[in-house]
Amino acid sequence: MRGRLMRNVSMARMTTWGTGGRADRAYVPADVEDLADFLAGLGPRDEVLWVGLGSNLLVRDGGVGGVVILTSRTLGQIEEPGGGLVRAGAGVPCAKLARHFAGRGFAGGEFLAGIPGTIGGALAMNAGAHGAETWDLVYRVETVDRDGGRRWRAPGEFEVGYRSVAGADGEWFTGAELRVVSEDPATVRARTRGMIQARAASQPVGQRSCGSVFRNPPGDYAGRLVEACGLKGARVGGAVVSHKHANFIVNERNASSSDIEALIGKVRSRVREETGVDLEPEVRVVGRRTPPHRKDHGPGEGR
Ligand SMILES: Cc1cc2nc3c(=O)[nH]c(=O)nc-3n(C[C@H](O)[C@H](O)[C@H](O)COP(=O)(O)OP(=O)(O)OC[C@H]3O[C@@H](n4cnc5c(N)ncnc54)[C@H](O)[C@@H]3O)c2cc1C
Repeated sequence: MRGRLMRNVSMARMTTWGTGGRADRAYVPADVEDLADFLAGLGPRDEVLWVGLGSNLLVRDGGVGGVVILTSRTLGQIEEPGGGLVRAGAGVPCAKLARHFAGRGFAGGEFLAGIPGTIGGALAMNAGAHGAETWDLVYRVETVDRDGGRRWRAPGEFEVGYRSVAGADGEWFTGAELRVVSEDPATVRARTRGMIQARAASQPVGQRSCGSVFRNPPGDYAGRLVEACGLKGARVGGAVVSHKHANFIVNERNASSSDIEALIGKVRSRVREETGVDLEPEVRVVGRRTPPHRKDHGPGEGR
């Protein structure tokens, strides 16, 4: 192993909500080959959780068992293989790739500028904004499985929908080749800036959140429903429904993950009672509610 294996790692430092317990183990691979070897060496019962920038993740206060693969400090290469393609590693921040596109005059990926996750996370979630989605750009993706097997796969091998991607079970994304169209760099830059400004005007940028908590139901907006139920400002502990955007829950005062999860439940049941719509969370909730009792851990290498 050439990467960095850490024990007892604080997941609060790996998520944009800034909450969550500890991971038993976390691994920062040196590169894709090292990652494949690491996965192949895991026991069959080891759970594996991939984490990019933790911008769509609620890790419960009891932390996570098994091993967390941290991609955001590695797999960060951006290449131009030609043929109108840009190749990006799973750990590349979306905003960095959008800056690369803007600098080179590549159109189509401007929306990525406002998504505070990695390309791997954007592929897993089919992240999107301003009417565009990550998989609109995908030419092919590179994956790795638990045995360290690596493959290139075409979009047709996946079922891609609104904030959902299914297919290639048991594989994770290590990178993608994205199709771009050349345009005047100044025009691409202006469009990118416009999208960032629109976001700052409508979202609680700068506060700890996970973006939209709920998926929009067909033909409506989750934020509109939450606001219509008078839930802006609703609170559990340090977690509060944003006054600026009702589909955001912000960590205002040292919230715990259980505060956030309880507030998600409260909002969901109130909206269901008042409107009949059962909002489905977009954020991924993982981990244990309470930490396991253990004697074997010292302070470890948690960051
Ligand atoms: C302020 C704010 C604004 C946001 N705005 C938007 C928006 O406009 N549109 C939008 O779609 N989302 C938005 N989000 C949500 C979030 O940024 C996206 O879902 C993003 O794609 C998550 O990327 P990540 O790297 O942080 O993934 P994480 O949160 O780390 O992980 C999310 C899920 O993807 C899985 N995953 C991560 N990496 C991989 C990989 N390489 N292979 C397989 N699975 C993987 C994880 O296991 C987890 O299930 C916003 C979030 C915030 C905080």
